[in-house]
Amino acid sequence: MASAPPRVFPLIDVRSSGLPMTASGSGFLMPPPGQAVQDTLGRPLRDLRISVTDRCNFRCSYCMPKEVFHKDYPYLPHSALLSFEEITKLARQFVALGVQKIRLTGGEPLLRKNIEVLIEQLAAIQTPSGKPLDLTLTTNGSLLAKKAASLKRAGLQRVTVSLDGLDDAVFQAMNDVAFPVADVLKGVDAALAAGLGPIKINMVVKRGTNDHEVAAMARHFKGTGVALRFIEYMDVGATNGWRMDEVVPSNEILSRLRAVMPLVPLVSSQRGETAQRWGHADPAGLHDTTAGEIGFISSVTQAFCGDCNRARLSTEGQLYLCLFAGQGHDLRTLLRSGADEHQLRQAISAVWGDRADRYSALRGSTSAGAPSGSRRVEMSYIGG
Ligand code: SAM
Ligand code: SF4
Ligand code: SF4
Repeated sequence: MASAPPRVFPLIDVRSSGLPMTASGSGFLMPPPGQAVQDTLGRPLRDLRISVTDRCNFRCSYCMPKEVFHKDYPYLPHSALLSFEEITKLARQFVALGVQKIRLTGGEPLLRKNIEVLIEQLAAIQTPSGKPLDLTLTTNGSLLAKKAASLKRAGLQRVTVSLDGLDDAVFQAMNDVAFPVADVLKGVDAALAAGLGPIKINMVVKRGTNDHEVAAMARHFKGTGVALRFIEYMDVGATNGWRMDEVVPSNEILSRLRAVMPLVPLVSSQRGETAQRWGHADPAGLHDTTAGEIGFISSVTQAFCGDCNRARLSTEGQLYLCLFAGQGHDLRTLLRSGADEHQLRQAISAVWGDRADRYSALRGSTSAGAPSGSRRVEMSYIGG
């Protein structure tokens, strides 16, 4: 049995790391107003994922396997979590530095008490050009039927729901808490009814576990206005016992689907988009927009690091520059030591300006791909 991973990761305290912190407005590493800060590879900061809890009511084997995340697992105490006010204060600085999209995640974000209050606060933030944020959330759907309407009222724009199959035996084995498919689908319906669309469904595909479900899933969501995305099973974290032979490459799924349904490639709608999109085709071979589209997130076989514009803020306020990073940057200490907004912006800007992460692009080629130093951070800690 694997032992529980350490909860404390090596941290860089920006106060002692030589990062700029003067309130003098020296402008060091700060982008001109209205422009996004860029990393060493020219990638702008556009997308922020905020993990609001490290807890979850599912035990998906690829994310929080029961043997590790058992009842005595040392989850973070409440005092370690960023408060809603702290999250909002940080989010405002990220937006000033270029972030246009915020995704709430976890753990299971709907388990965080009064999450609607945080959503209200985030929804009030505008980009420097006065536009509202693209505010979304990824959920396992278990609490969505109950919460969809209040999430929408609070200002959430859309949701992504994770669902790994339509067959109860398959899905219940994967979530490992016997949660039924029908209840997730009720959540999806409630989200549609509440106006939380366009909705995306994430399906992690594992060979020999749920790969026989891909065509049924594609048929089920065709014409519903819901976009299904197939996600390659990733070697994230250190607890899921990942093996390459359990990854089903996107190309293989696409070939299997094209053998049974007509699909046409769609152009990506924006830089940094993670999914390759395909549309259901009409008899003339053109995209039938009423039938909708599916997507492929090929993090293992076709790395998209070149366009990766995502930062991740952990539940306890560590800034991670890559899903595979071994080390975070401690924004909570800075925040709680009384840093003002300008100092926070300077620190975030300096950390992003120094970013060179591209784990997936290097994966398998050399050992350079592995995160330096310590073990990898878990997906449930920084969110997907
Ligand atoms: N609990 C929520 C959920 O499941 O939607 C949000 C957090 S979860 C970590 C975010 C996304 O990461 C989910 O869509 C999940 O399927 C995906 N994920 C988790 N572990 C993964 C892995 N090893 N490989 C690929 N995707 C993974
Ligand atoms: Fe929970 Fe989401 Fe991880 Fe599944 S993928 S264990 S639902 S956090
Ligand atoms: Fe971004 Fe890291 Fe994933 Fe590459 S491996 S796409 S840098 S999160």
